[in-house]
Amino acid sequence: MTTKEQLKMLVELIRTLWEEGRIQTSHDDPAKDDGPLLNSFLESMEEILSCDNAKCPVCGYDDFDGAPWDLNGSEASQTVTCNNCGSSWDEVYIFARRENITKG
Ligand SMILES: [Zn+2]
Repeated sequence: MTTKEQLKMLVELIRTLWEEGRIQTSHDDPAKDDGPLLNSFLESMEEILSCDNAKCPVCGYDDFDGAPWDLNGSEASQTVTCNNCGSSWDEVYIFARRENITKG
């Protein structure tokens, strides 16, 4: 199971638990209700996790060219241009983990 699939399951679980009332976000004082904050976080995660980075976000075409990568700490970004419609966007990747460490 990939990290993305694990995150999708976790976000779905949190939303389900919240909708079933098993995660309490409301208080006696409505000003302290954390529901809007949790919902905003879940919507952001759902949008990120449903993004299909194999297709152009404008026309859905699957052939595009990327400019050189820009590395900044634990993030890497690249401006990508669609070879069908000419739209462009920045793809941003976040460092996930280290694997297969071999002690020297
Ligand atoms: Zn396109």
